[in-house]
Amino acid sequence: MVDPENLDAVFVSHLHEDHMAMIPYLVRRGYSEPIYMTRPTRELGVKQWVKWARILEEDGRSLYSVTDAVNAERLIREVRYGDVIEIGDLRITIGLAGHALGSAHFLVEEKKGKKLLYLADVNKGSHVLRDFEEPKTRPDAMIINASYGDNIIDMEATKRKLAEILGHTLLEGSVLFPVTPTGRAQETLMILYSIRDKIKDTTIIATEKIRKATETLNKYQGELKETYMEQIREVLEDIVFAKEEEILEAAGKPGYIILAEDLMMMGFSRRIFMEIKDDPRSAVIHTGYKAPGTFARQLVMARNTMCFTWNSEPLVFRTRVYDIPIKMHFDLHDNISLVESMGRPLLILHHGEEPRSLRLALALSNYVEPKRILLPSTPSKTFLG
Ligand SMILES: [Zn+2]
Ligand SMILES: [Zn+2]
Repeated sequence: MVDPENLDAVFVSHLHEDHMAMIPYLVRRGYSEPIYMTRPTRELGVKQWVKWARILEEDGRSLYSVTDAVNAERLIREVRYGDVIEIGDLRITIGLAGHALGSAHFLVEEKKGKKLLYLADVNKGSHVLRDFEEPKTRPDAMIINASYGDNIIDMEATKRKLAEILGHTLLEGSVLFPVTPTGRAQETLMILYSIRDKIKDTTIIATEKIRKATETLNKYQGELKETYMEQIREVLEDIVFAKEEEILEAAGKPGYIILAEDLMMMGFSRRIFMEIKDDPRSAVIHTGYKAPGTFARQLVMARNTMCFTWNSEPLVFRTRVYDIPIKMHFDLHDNISLVESMGRPLLILHHGEEPRSLRLALALSNYVEPKRILLPSTPSKTFLG
């Protein structure tokens, strides 16, 4: 690992934990230079540091403490899209990534030399956020995200599938969507709005946390799609925001669509699941990433056997579980068109587990010479070896 004391700057792409939870660890190890991020990343992401510091302390894993988290906060410098930050011989331009509120990509240019485009998570086609914006200059090399880049998500087909499942399930039971309060919750609400003719006479009920997150989102109108701004008021008129007890009461009742945090089902959404788990008329629809070891991952993996082990106890369920991804990342089409419009630069694939990253490398090798595609292993190698 690079010695944190030798780093001149840290740029944070977005608020998701896999991209920023370890930053206080750098500070603990001696990092004391600026940490650049957008205002939403600061407002919504940084509070996770203290949360994680507490969890780590309780677990007896001293990766970083609350003091390290607070010291890291002091180093933050806010940036906006279009800003150019100079660090020594480098110019770093902040670009709009379209994946989460405040998400950014970075074009790193040597003043008289090469250009590198770094993409963390990026997206086009959100119902809420403005689309990824390409940098104006072509890079020599591009670091791209391989986590979802090898498949194609057809959102029209996804909507048809959702309409069908909701249509028959809600006649006799309720449907739970585990979501993140900022981002996936609004994305899901907009999708439900787009199929509202197919889900008439149903009630959408969501947590107070989702209501607050939706309000926070509205503070950043510059990042939001115009269609979202036009429709969200109408969308919200039909939603019941309720306290946890009321939501638990609605669980299992016919005609209720429930949106609740969290996506990994380690918190409130799991409590709702426990209310409906013996009800074969109800359903859980998972639409996103499920980290290994989480309740959501175990549940979705067990959706056909309807039994798994949780906390060393067997957990048997009868409610139906569906895995229906909603597009929050670049897919293969997006990656191919970006590679072409950026002039087929050298590619470095990161943020993906094999075999998915290998599949993406294979697909992109139709556009870029295989030896110019590097895979994220240490030391890096081309996908041919
Ligand atoms: Zn992300
Ligand atoms: Zn990510």
